[in-house]
Amino acid sequence: MKYVTLGRTGLNVSQLSFGGIPIQRADAANTKAVVDKLEEYGINYIDTARGYTVSEEYLGAALEGRRDKFILATKSMSRDRESMARDIETSLSNLRTGHIELYQLHNLPEKDIGKVFGPGGAWEALAEAKAAGKIGHIGVTAHSADALKILVEQYSDRLETVMFPYNIVEDQGRDVLALAREKGMGTIAMKPLAGGNLDDYALALRYIAASGVCDVMIPGMGSPEEVDRNAAVDLETSFTEAELEQCAAVRKELGTQFCRRCNYCAPCPNGIDIPSCFLMANYTKKYGLADWARARYDAMPYHAGSCVMCGACEKRCPYGLPIRDMLMDVARIFGR
Ligand code: SF4
Ligand code: SF4
Repeated sequence: MKYVTLGRTGLNVSQLSFGGIPIQRADAANTKAVVDKLEEYGINYIDTARGYTVSEEYLGAALEGRRDKFILATKSMSRDRESMARDIETSLSNLRTGHIELYQLHNLPEKDIGKVFGPGGAWEALAEAKAAGKIGHIGVTAHSADALKILVEQYSDRLETVMFPYNIVEDQGRDVLALAREKGMGTIAMKPLAGGNLDDYALALRYIAASGVCDVMIPGMGSPEEVDRNAAVDLETSFTEAELEQCAAVRKELGTQFCRRCNYCAPCPNGIDIPSCFLMANYTKKYGLADWARARYDAMPYHAGSCVMCGACEKRCPYGLPIRDMLMDVARIFGR
């Protein structure tokens, strides 16, 4: 395993690290098996979030007796001082530790930046927790290129790391991430597999390593087999012309309007599981799994066809997807 320094945090982290979103779909025993694999391969950086339901708790339990082998990063969507202070305490308790190496402002959009860094904002709680030794470093995650630019250009003196989507089909952050690195910020690639939309995971991970703008990548891994699979990818050899052509073909096929399964659009007041609707439609279109996908789609309690077009989800999607139109396509595919 190759290790890199995460910007001026000085943390020595594995280039291939761990994203904790899929732990939400796992159970405690499976989480332990995943962490066993991380330890076996020397993958030492674990990223999770207050917002990933049970992820912090399961990881905390799985880390019992081996906390010192891992560097922990988590994050909170809190924007004000009080709720951020509460979230930091909850994270410490869930992760069963007295110190979290990196605490991040989660999914910070442009409109909330002033609030977070203003009087009574979340930044104050983070700075206090750092001074008290409860957290080691402070970072930020963002999904919008505009927010990323402001955060890197204006707040790099306070923020030690930045996490942004970076993969074969989403390299809109390339220049700003390079600038972040120049300014000494640690750079973390989120969604290296574009939310599961990139089938060739080896190509996807190698693309990020070759791009040279992200220190680490954190593919979500929900099973020991996924850890085996990703750990086997050779990130060291240089990218070939043929691989560049493969990437161009993937870009052409996938375009930009695809769901990354982040679930920020939830909750739908009509109970529609939006990313699962898109996932099942993809299975029918891309993989020829029409019967398999239809059975699962039919078993869902609410379907794309029950969308009442209120638009609430679209306001929350950080990628600006036309969710209503996309759901209409899904309803056409499945007839409900
Ligand atoms: S537009 Fe449709 S899917 Fe989106 S929140 Fe409203 S009802 Fe739910
Ligand atoms: S529709 Fe948008 S917000 Fe919802 S899961 Fe997909 S990418 Fe995320």
